[in-house]
Amino acid sequence: MKTYKIPVCNGGENIVHDSYFDITNPANGDIVSRIPKMTEGHVDRAVSAATGAMAGTDWAHDGVLRAKVMLQWADKLEENIAPIARQLTLENGKLIGEATYEVSSQVGVIRYNAGLARTVSGRSHSLGRDSFAVVAREPMGVIAVISPWNWPVTLMIRDLAPALAAGNAALVKPASQTAGVSLDVLRLLLEETDIPPGIVHPITGSGRSAGQAMVVHPGIDMIAFTGDCSTGRNIMRDASPTLKKVALELGGKSPMVVCADADLDKAVPTLVSAIFTTTSGQICTAPSRLLVERSIEDELCRRLKEAIATIRIGDGLDRASQMGPLTTRDQYEKVLKFTEMGHREGHLVAGGEPLPEDLPAKGNFVAPVAFANLPNDSSLDREEIFGPVLIIKAFEGDDEAIALANDTEFGLASAVFTENVHRAWRISRAIKAGTVWVNTYNRFYPEVEVGGYKQSGIGRMAGLDGLHEFTQTKFINFDSIPPQG
Ligand code: NAP
Repeated sequence: MKTYKIPVCNGGENIVHDSYFDITNPANGDIVSRIPKMTEGHVDRAVSAATGAMAGTDWAHDGVLRAKVMLQWADKLEENIAPIARQLTLENGKLIGEATYEVSSQVGVIRYNAGLARTVSGRSHSLGRDSFAVVAREPMGVIAVISPWNWPVTLMIRDLAPALAAGNAALVKPASQTAGVSLDVLRLLLEETDIPPGIVHPITGSGRSAGQAMVVHPGIDMIAFTGDCSTGRNIMRDASPTLKKVALELGGKSPMVVCADADLDKAVPTLVSAIFTTTSGQICTAPSRLLVERSIEDELCRRLKEAIATIRIGDGLDRASQMGPLTTRDQYEKVLKFTEMGHREGHLVAGGEPLPEDLPAKGNFVAPVAFANLPNDSSLDREEIFGPVLIIKAFEGDDEAIALANDTEFGLASAVFTENVHRAWRISRAIKAGTVWVNTYNRFYPEVEVGGYKQSGIGRMAGLDGLHEFTQTKFINFDSIPPQG
């Protein structure tokens, strides 16, 4: 068990804590981390320090300094991939291979944003012989970054790196379940780089107290939140009295459309990975609704059944495991509830095999399941479950595929599998979602914006638009008409 301190940069004030909360390993229920519980008072002090650092340092004005700090951070993260990945698996439960990928991929994301830090630029306009305008791009100020537990390193860095590149200060509130690994990553930034004191503050503690305190605080200029839709709605409501900018990256109920001419050798393993084995289905983009062209439904379901039967469920630290436990006990109970509902309301097509007997009783292990023939208003088909639960529906022709794909309040991600470029293009353009993958799934790049249509979110992260989310423009007009007389 590791007891954490809140990291501070050189010259920063070391905070003494008298209250802690514990994180348990989802694979066996053991306590793995003890984390300082911060409250409203800590948030208040952090906001004052961040505001002071924005005014008293060159951070907001010096892209070269920001790039240097971020490159130092990336180098330190690269040197520490293995221990951080291990801590990630201990707290989240995900497979160690996935954890290693999660940490190592963020090195490139930080480096990409370090490059952007030197290119934050506005525009100028000549508006006539005597008038000239500059549109300057300036940081928002102090950002609250609030992130979830499913991809805690990725999603924290996805928001924090562009926020820093754009010249902001930040308070960073990681999900409680994965606060230890998040502090490990922040410690490298705060204690191993030349970042000016006061620019970044980790805030650990519950969302309802420490998180809420940031949302309502008048000294916070913007909230960058990734998490559940209901939390996003509460944040938007609670941020409104101070009219803060909010960027919300929320949940999904993403469709994967598999056409009759699709390459099933590619589609089936991609589906199995994206909804079952990657983070045990706890990924916002998970294709939880499979829409399959009726003529290949039987063949696809047969292959799916075979593939699910071979998934080895076990501790994420065991390299032989192919699917780990669910991250929290709440999530485990929710998935079991939806699985029972699936048996009651629909037909089990694949999965649902008994779990291996040697799994620890306190582990949050569940069997992957795929259901068909559900009533259209079933909450299994409507709500984000966030686990290895797949719903299957058959369609005939593009129009029905598009109608079914769009029959949801969410619009985060989607995919089309077909060898016909015309079908791929038509369906991709018609789906109302922020991402459409064609013959692939869950590919992310620092250069490319992601975000939600409909109730899956507001704003875009990553890419150039992701940087610009953390800036505001200022119009400065020069009137050069000479004084009269
Ligand atoms: P969550 O319960 O909404 O929590 C997310 C973060 O918000 C945590 O740090 C949480 O703190 C904090 N929080 C909770 N209540 C708060 C409040 N009233 N004010 C301020 N902060 C508050 O979400 P989760 O269960 O961690 O994550 C799963 C959800 O995230 C799923 O819906 C998934 O789809 C979504 N997600 C979306 C994306 C995307 O890019 N669109 C990516 C990944 C996940 P505590 O941990 O202390 O409660």
